[in-house]
Amino acid sequence: MLPQGRTSKMRKGTRRSHHALRAPNLVACPKCGQAKLPHAACANCGYASAKVALPPESEES
Ligand SMILES: [Zn+2]
Repeated sequence: MLPQGRTSKMRKGTRRSHHALRAPNLVACPKCGQAKLPHAACANCGYASAKVALPPESEES
């Protein structure tokens, strides 16, 4: 099977107009200042919130 027709530059550009990547939203950790994702534990110190703190590099089990 072959494409029925050549995709024009405009059609290609229009399709790819939604493909741009955005930088992740980073916030500074209030404990150590390292950039971290909001609502996620800090990879550096494990701080998640005032109540929850995980030891760094502790995966499940
Ligand atoms: Zn931290």
